[in-house]
Amino acid sequence: MRLSASLIPTLKETPAEAQIASHRLMLRAGLVRQMASGIYAWLPAGLRVLTKIANIVREEQDRAGAQELLMPTIQSADLWRESGRYDVYGKEMLRITDRHDRELLYGPTNEEMITVIMREGAKSYRDLPQILYHIQWKFRDEVRPRFGVLRGREFLMKDAYSFDLDYEGAFLSYKKMMHCYTRIFQRLGVSAIPMRADTGQIGGDLSHEFHILAPTGESAVFYDSDLDYADIENQNDRTKFGYDPKTLDVIYASLTTKYAATDEKHDLEAWAKVPDVRKREGRGIEVGQIFYFGTKYSEKMGFSVVRKDGLRVFPEMGSYGVGVSRLVGAIIEARHDELGIIWPDSIAPFRVGILNLRQGDPLTDQICEHLHTKLGAEALYDDREERAGVKFAEADLMGHPWQIIVGPKGAANGLVQLKRRDGKTSPRELSVQGALSALGIEDDLPPRSV
Ligand code: ATP
Ligand code: MG
Repeated sequence: MRLSASLIPTLKETPAEAQIASHRLMLRAGLVRQMASGIYAWLPAGLRVLTKIANIVREEQDRAGAQELLMPTIQSADLWRESGRYDVYGKEMLRITDRHDRELLYGPTNEEMITVIMREGAKSYRDLPQILYHIQWKFRDEVRPRFGVLRGREFLMKDAYSFDLDYEGAFLSYKKMMHCYTRIFQRLGVSAIPMRADTGQIGGDLSHEFHILAPTGESAVFYDSDLDYADIENQNDRTKFGYDPKTLDVIYASLTTKYAATDEKHDLEAWAKVPDVRKREGRGIEVGQIFYFGTKYSEKMGFSVVRKDGLRVFPEMGSYGVGVSRLVGAIIEARHDELGIIWPDSIAPFRVGILNLRQGDPLTDQICEHLHTKLGAEALYDDREERAGVKFAEADLMGHPWQIIVGPKGAANGLVQLKRRDGKTSPRELSVQGALSALGIEDDLPPRSV
């Protein structure tokens, strides 16, 4: 993509309305614009991030055996009367009346709707277990929308729902989802700690929230520092190709036996048993939550199936949310410096920024064009007539994980500079071919012939 032809409206000034770094950076890097309180338009670069996060979530849900469907954003009030939640949900629910005076609402979550879909589709034990999910916009009329997409009113959520014949099955689904979430966050380049949590509006008795630690987080969290080092990565490697229940138990135990709780579930007695040197108190941003709530909805909404022995039972359910749009802000909150965003490779809007330091110099232009062709859609080519300083500052602000800097001096010798945004490796002078191959791309042309 050529920057000269893109809509990436970066801002030099710090927007006054933004109180925290991620909000400021999302506005400054041209990712989103607020259209009404808590309601955002996703601009092209922002949408690329949102889509990449959604795709990682989708791949991992599919790998865990969940099936994707798509439920509507608008729901009927009658659906929520069946569960009894229409009256208790309160002002956060955006209620709508259509031209025939029928009562509708913009869905804040989908337990009711999925239960009705299953009630019509599943009749016997043969139809269970099932895990279904969708990635869809939600609306909650938050009293105080703030911090940009971290607490919006309209936001994108992945919500999954599990249906099992008995508690053992439901608990297995819960463990699968917990493990699936660790894979998701690992791929997103952040660490999110599962904490014992309250069940709130959804109800039920077993729940964990996943928190990314950040001083700006809205929840107070307490945890054992052993969880900082939980060896999830290696365990995840072992389960690349499916679910062995024994491994799942080991992972679940490693994630849940150490102390970790939000302030709502903070248990002073259990906390006192954690050695002082391992006690960590801080703030967290909730990026996901998983619930087991048994037969709460299946019973109220009359969804039962026939067991193998002929007995009729209400399926045991759970629900599992990931805040897809909140994650964009939360990841920036965890990964930025004074210059801008530091995207992980997996979700950067562009993996590579090509910086042409002398637009119009034939050799520099030629090398840049060549790199742009080779790197394709994952590169943003800064081909504007701008000063080098401006290009450096904007590339740092936008946070491409890699920069290839091309200037006339190097170009004369067929050399470019390859730089990593996170500063973990020092910048290197390389041939054009060398830079491409460092990025995993084969170049068929000798560097001097471009
Ligand atoms: P919170 O406590 O932050 O209000 P919640 O517990 O009400 O969130 P859930 O019902 O657990 O939210 O929804 C699942 C996920 O959706 C949350 O973990 C969060 O990541 C995301 N989410 C919830 N509310 C919002 C919001 N207003 N804006 C953006 N994301 C949200
Ligand atoms: Mg929650």
